[in-house]
Amino acid sequence: MSPREARVIRNEALFREVNLRILDLEEGLLRLGEDEPLSLVCECAHTGCATPIAVDSATFKQVRDNPLRFLAAVGHEDLDSESVVERRASYLIVEKHST
Ligand SMILES: [Zn+2]
Repeated sequence: MSPREARVIRNEALFREVNLRILDLEEGLLRLGEDEPLSLVCECAHTGCATPIAVDSATFKQVRDNPLRFLAAVGHEDLDSESVVERRASYLIVEKHST
């Protein structure tokens, strides 16, 4: 694994963890409904990116259930290592190539 690949994986895992905490907090404290948007952060590979993205919790749970899928702000996709599987108004769902 190259240093770049290692950094990419670390970033994505970190922001996935942040978003899972946000989901827990918002559901637990605010009693958020399934279709209410969560204020999540972009899970792209760019170091230091923490672009806010509003994602409904049902969509986030679907993405979370697939370990190859991540949420990214529009324009933050890295087509060398992932494909865009869904384009929404304010964010993208990307899927890592499984190589
Ligand atoms: Zn980003």
